[in-house]
Amino acid sequence: MTANIRLRKGREKALLEGHPWIFSGAIENVDGQPEAGEMVRVVSSADQFLAWAAWSPQSSICARVWSRDDAAVIDRGFLREKLETALSLRIRLLPESTQPHAGFRVVHGESDGLPGFIIDRYGPVAVLQALTTGAERWKTEMAELLMDCLPIQAVYERSDADVRQLEGLPETRGWLAGSLGDDQAVIVEHGLEWQVDYIHGQKTGFYLDQRANRRRAGELAAERDVLNCFCYTGGFSLNALAGGARSVLSIDSSASSLAAARVNLQRNGLAADRAEWWEADVFQAMRGLRDRGRKFDLIILDPPKFAPTAAHAERAARAYKDINLLAFKLLNPGGLLMTFSCSGGIPADLFRKIVAGAAVDARADATVLEQLEQDIDHPVSLAFPEGSYLKGLVCLKRA
Ligand code: SAH
Repeated sequence: MTANIRLRKGREKALLEGHPWIFSGAIENVDGQPEAGEMVRVVSSADQFLAWAAWSPQSSICARVWSRDDAAVIDRGFLREKLETALSLRIRLLPESTQPHAGFRVVHGESDGLPGFIIDRYGPVAVLQALTTGAERWKTEMAELLMDCLPIQAVYERSDADVRQLEGLPETRGWLAGSLGDDQAVIVEHGLEWQVDYIHGQKTGFYLDQRANRRRAGELAAERDVLNCFCYTGGFSLNALAGGARSVLSIDSSASSLAAARVNLQRNGLAADRAEWWEADVFQAMRGLRDRGRKFDLIILDPPKFAPTAAHAERAARAYKDINLLAFKLLNPGGLLMTFSCSGGIPADLFRKIVAGAAVDARADATVLEQLEQDIDHPVSLAFPEGSYLKGLVCLKRA
């Protein structure tokens, strides 16, 4: 029997405005004994139907909305329709997503109506993350549908993200459908070829959300000495080199990421003598560069998520300020800073304040030229601002 989840009086507002999350504190009572991941019927305090939602008993977000249609049945057909809608959006917005070596986000969770599902395609393989109990329950069907709807040979699961703990789910990885003999998939982005290690790489293997910003970095890099901090497999570095940078110094603490970056450099025939790779902690390396008086004309800061939630915001703010302050000091007058935060816990206005504070402390006269965000295959539902996590600024240091 389907369980009914009744909300407290006055706690329906967010849901009625389109927000997909139901917090445990909003629940009056649970009528029935739903299993983790099961669809429950969410009703108002007056017993009016509000939504079908997947039940996550261990999380403080204890239900996520899948449908607002009382007549909807969450089944394979429902999943197929959502997947096809998500795919047709990508085809319209990113024509290159139909190419054999396409790399793009197929499904971006709540904003594509599939809470907890993150799915990226890298040429012959789709990489799936099931981050919630609802997605966990449907992942095998989703993998079969992906094989059906995309010209791929396999679906690999990378559900090894920390957030699964909040749902009481173990970390897991492996083939969900088909298999490939190779742990590297090749994608093409802005005319550059990338080897994506979707099995051992970070997240699902590649940071697709930065696609448009990597292009921008390429455009801004001509004739400049570039510093790319947190370079991973060389995303911004190679675009800068292809864009005519005079030199690019790239720093990352991960030796395997740097090895992959060198392979990517070679694969694209870019001048190795203009590229320097340092395996180092960025915080220390930037101080070292400052102490030695090194200067750059374009600095890219794309650090990992310092603040996964608002609870980490204060410590994260200090870390962001630290690297941005050093960056302003390392820039020549007329130099550009491309600075990012992918922390859900740091909203865009706070990030801007942190960068402004860093400029003041560095005694830099700086102007914001551009505001950047995640690329178009990472859409954000207007009712779900949490989906918008990546923010960036291009700042000009005048003096
Ligand atoms: N800009 C990249 C993605 C960066 S992801 C792209 O476009 O593909 C963040 C990177 O920061 C990871 O590669 C991680 O290894 C690295 N990293 C995390 N903490 C670090 C630190 N303290 N010093 C140097 N690198 C770090």
